[in-house]
Amino acid sequence: MSETVIPINRQYEDSEIQYGACRYCGQMFQIETLTGICSDETLDDAATAKCGCPEAEQEQHAKRRRERATKAISELFQEDEPEAEALLLSGLEHVLAGKIGSVQVQSASGVKGKISENAKGNIKVERNVSQKTIRES
Ligand SMILES: [Zn+2]
Repeated sequence: MSETVIPINRQYEDSEIQYGACRYCGQMFQIETLTGICSDETLDDAATAKCGCPEAEQEQHAKRRRERATKAISELFQEDEPEAEALLLSGLEHVLAGKIGSVQVQSASGVKGKISENAKGNIKVERNVSQKTIRES
């Protein structure tokens, strides 16, 4: 546990200054809160998001990866294929956890969606509309 506290400059007049600790290294940070007293868990989350220790940085990286992929899935599917969006978002958790390599869905209207992890560790989100025409007589 570190003895020093990383101070912050107050941004709002009616805020509270509280303290949170990084969940990995214990570094203490001042946290400015506007909503009154926060739980220790919330304060520690905020401290961990600010901390520069390797474990905290790894978690921040994983969080950004999830946010970017979630945004990409929503941008590509939310408007016209919300069911595909929901399936891909739930699959994303398993891809991020490294348990599933890729998830692919196809909607009734023929829109295909796929998420996968590329060699660099980035999440790739694809949307494909197939234009196949078949006539049976
Ligand atoms: Zn830390």
